[in-house]
Amino acid sequence: ALRLTVVFILSSLVYIVGHKRPWPATLPQELSALDISVRIRVDPEATFPVSTDFGRLVSATPAAVLFPSSNLDIMALLSFANESPRPFKVAPRGRGHSLRGRRSLARRTGGGHDTMATTLSRITVSSCQDGSDPQGSAYVDAGGEQLWADVLRETLKHGLAPKSWTDYLYLTVGGTLSNAGISGQAFRHGPQISTVYELDVITGKGEMKTCSKEHNSDLFYAVLGGLGQFGVITRARIALEPAPDNVKWVRLIYTDFAAFTKDQEYLISLDGRPTPGTNSTKSKGFDYVEGSVFLDRSPVSSWRSSFKPADSARINSLITKYGPVYCLEAGIYYRNASKFAAKKDLDRLLEELSFIPGMTFIIDIGYVRFLNRVCEGELQLRAQGLWDVPHPWLALFVPRSRISDFNARVFRRIIRENRSKGPILVYPVNRDSDPDEGVFYSVSLLWSATTETLEQLEAQNEEVLRFCNDEGIKVKQYLPHYEERSDWVKHFGAKWEVFLERKRKYDPKRILSPGQGIFTSSA
Ligand code: FAD
Repeated sequence: ALRLTVVFILSSLVYIVGHKRPWPATLPQELSALDISVRIRVDPEATFPVSTDFGRLVSATPAAVLFPSSNLDIMALLSFANESPRPFKVAPRGRGHSLRGRRSLARRTGGGHDTMATTLSRITVSSCQDGSDPQGSAYVDAGGEQLWADVLRETLKHGLAPKSWTDYLYLTVGGTLSNAGISGQAFRHGPQISTVYELDVITGKGEMKTCSKEHNSDLFYAVLGGLGQFGVITRARIALEPAPDNVKWVRLIYTDFAAFTKDQEYLISLDGRPTPGTNSTKSKGFDYVEGSVFLDRSPVSSWRSSFKPADSARINSLITKYGPVYCLEAGIYYRNASKFAAKKDLDRLLEELSFIPGMTFIIDIGYVRFLNRVCEGELQLRAQGLWDVPHPWLALFVPRSRISDFNARVFRRIIRENRSKGPILVYPVNRDSDPDEGVFYSVSLLWSATTETLEQLEAQNEEVLRFCNDEGIKVKQYLPHYEERSDWVKHFGAKWEVFLERKRKYDPKRILSPGQGIFTSSA
C-alpha cells in the first residue's frame, strides 16, 4: 500500500488513500472541517475492496472515498489540499483501467462494468452546421467521468459520433484524454486528444478554468496526454462526424512482414485522394487500419479479435508452415444506402494489396458492434474468470525505419521463443510532427498473466526494452511506466522543462495523480 495520504478524485468519486493500514478510524482531521466531509466515506473496505487497477500489478488502498455532488466539491477539496499545512495527494480516477496503479482502484461489482460510477454531468450534442460555432462543425460536451460508450450512445441519437476511438469503449473521457486515446482511426484523425476543441479543468489549486487552443492554451496542451498531472477534466468538447450505419470489417493474412507493412502504410496514405495509378473515382480508402501478429502455439482467436474455428485452423496451418503470420485489420464505414459503393471501393482496394490469396475474412457488422468488439471479448473472458488477472502490458511507439528490425528480433525471436500468449497489435500511424519519419508504428503486447507466468512476461518486456535500447531503436512507451524520475526526464526529453514549468503553474504542491510516480519517484 502506498505510504501516502492520498485523496483520489474521480469526477464522480473521490478516493482518499491513507497511511499504511489500519485505517484512520475517522476522516483525517483536516478534512472533516470541510462541508463536503458529509460526502466522504472513510470505510473503503466496505465501499471498495482493496484491489488494484486493470493491471493488477500494484496495490493501492484508499483511506476514504468522496462522492462529489458537483464540481464545486472537487474544487473545494483541491483548494483545501493546496492550502493545507499538510497537503495530501489527489488523483482523479476514471474507470480504473490503468495498468500500474496510475490512479486508484479498479472496483468491480461482480460481473459487468462498475455500476457505482454516478455521473456529475450530462452529455450534450451541438450540431452547429449553421456556422454559428467558430469551429464550424458538430461537437459533444461530455464530462470527464463519462464513459465513451455512453458518449457514443448519446451522439448516435443525432446521427453523429466522435471521430477517434480506443478499441475498448468502457474507459472514461478523462482517463483516455489523460493519455492519448489511440486506435485504428488515428492515422486519419489523430488520437482522441487531437479531436478536442475545449476543456473545463479544475487545476491542482482548485481553480476551474476553461481552456482551448486559443484560450489558456498552455493548460489545454498540458492536460491532454498530461497523465492527470495538471488538473481534473470535468468537461471535454469533442469533435463529431456523421456516424456510419455499418462497417465492412476486413482481415487479411500475410506471411511476409514487408508486404504487410507496405500495404498498411499504403492504406494510411489514402485520405479521399484518387488512388495513384488508376483513373477510378476518389478512393476514400479504409476508415480504420490496425494489424496484429499471430505466433506459433498462441491461439489466433483472442478477446481482441476472434475467427471462426475453421478460419483459425487455416491460419494456424500457415503459422505451422511459415512461423509468425501477420493480420491486417481494416474497416470501411458506410451508410445503409451506400452498401454497394462500399463493396466496390473494397474490391478495388483489395486488388491493390498483396495478402495471401484466399486469406481474406470480411464481415459486414453494425458500426456500434464494430467499435464495441473488445467488450464482447471481455464478457467471454469474464465468464472464464480470465479478465481480472494480472496484465503486464507493454505499449510502444516504434519508428517506421526500425519496425522490420523490431519484427525480426521481438516478434520472430524474443516473444516467439517465450511462447507468450495474448494479442499483439502492430499498426502504422501518420505523424505530421516528424516529416522524416512521417509514420510511426503503435505496438501493443497485451499479455494476460497467471502468478506462474507474470515474472517471465515482465522479464520479457524488459528484454524487449533492452533490445531497443542496445540497438538504438528510439521507441517511446505509451501508457508509460517508470520507477525513477530520471527515466521520466528521459521519456519527456526536450519537453521535460515545459512539463515541469506547467506542473509548477497548475499544481504547485504536486498534489495530483501520484500513482504515475512522476513526482514521487526518487532520483
Ligand atoms: P483511470 O485508469 O481511472 O485513470 C487513468 C489516468 O487518468 C490516471 O492518471 C488518472 O489520474 C487520470 N484521470 C482519470 N480521470 C481523469 C480526469 N477526469 N481528469 C484528469 N485525469 C484523469 N488506450 C488506448 O489509447 N487505445 C486503446 O485501444 C486502449 N484499449 C484498452 C483496452 C483495455 C481493455 C484497457 C483496460 C485499456 C485500454 N487502453 C487503451 C488504455 C486506456 O486508455 C488507459 O488505461 C486509460 O487511462 C484508462 O481510462 P480510465 O477511465 O480507466 O482511467
